[in-house]
Amino acid sequence: MNKHSLQPVIPLIGDFSEQMQGLWLQQLSLAMPEFKVVFWDGLSEQEKSRVEVAVVTNIQPERIKQYPNLKWVQSLWAGVETLLPAIQDLNLKVVRMNDPQLAQSMSDSVLLWTLYLHQQAHVYRQQQNIALWQQSPTSLFTLLPHATRVGILGLGNLGKVAANRLKDNGFTVQGWSRTAKSLPGIPTYSGDTGLQQLLSTSDILVVLLPLTHSTRYLLNQQRLQMLPDGAAVINFARGAIIPEPDLLQCLNNGKLSHAVLDVFEQEPLPSNSPLWQHPNITVLPHISAQTNPVTASKVVAKNIKPYFQNGEIPEYIDVLKGY
Ligand code: NAP
Repeated sequence: MNKHSLQPVIPLIGDFSEQMQGLWLQQLSLAMPEFKVVFWDGLSEQEKSRVEVAVVTNIQPERIKQYPNLKWVQSLWAGVETLLPAIQDLNLKVVRMNDPQLAQSMSDSVLLWTLYLHQQAHVYRQQQNIALWQQSPTSLFTLLPHATRVGILGLGNLGKVAANRLKDNGFTVQGWSRTAKSLPGIPTYSGDTGLQQLLSTSDILVVLLPLTHSTRYLLNQQRLQMLPDGAAVINFARGAIIPEPDLLQCLNNGKLSHAVLDVFEQEPLPSNSPLWQHPNITVLPHISAQTNPVTASKVVAKNIKPYFQNGEIPEYIDVLKGY
């Protein structure tokens, strides 16, 4: 703690249940005992003026403006699309969550639901509803994973780990990202032509892109039509990447066989949404990869400690790029 003689104060800013607030404060304090970690509304005026770094889940400008010397915020979440509009008028940097455990959890979910689709579990689930005992002779279950081509949109912290996990489990995997990538044993694409190529050859499409001005409604009707007939979609990124009416149309007309959705434009998904009852949609309540307070607090500490040693701010979001 060369730079500061007083114990630095780190506010935790967010809307938590009482239980989660207690858990986060406990884990953050354990991970960085040299700092005073407190909930945002528990600081004296003198302490507020000393705050340089905050840990946040959301940014409400009226809360942030209480800290005149705030330089950067550490987000507890990997997706930051809701934080960025709020900091436009503030000279503030946003560091997002990059926890290897989060990527591991996401790859667990991607593997689980890819196997679910590959082994036709969605079909057998429907058969159970009508007490139908029928083994499909053409079921993909009889095929090796290699016969199923999985396309992953987004090869960042989460997409790369998921792509390798699927490859290691025998699937034929390919990926798409904004800039060109090189992943051993995984063909990769970028740009519009690359997207077309990937879509036209993916039996299962996994979406792991951030929501930005370029990815909002990216997978519209026209692009969904590029997928092979009977393809399935797994969206674990953000709901607004796939326009809901376009997805429903493709599921209703048989273009797509199934969609596993963990994210929605409106969350929680309203009880009157047609998605809940759709026979070819699996609805999950945004749980495909949840930030773990124990491992994430260690990541936060690893980011914050060097700042108070040498003023180094970890890699932060490029506001223009949006992620
Ligand atoms: P990341 O490390 O920033 O990776 C994003 C990837 O998407 C990168 O490969 C990036 O390309 C690519 N990309 C961005 N814009 C693109 C575009 N316009 N065209 C093509 N590719 C584009 O993000 P991450 O940590 O993997 O997380 C991805 C998203 O998952 C998050 O933003 C969040 O919304 C979501 N998420 C969901 C959950 C959940 O529980 N459902 C949990 C965590 C995160 P480059 O490599 O070229 O930059």
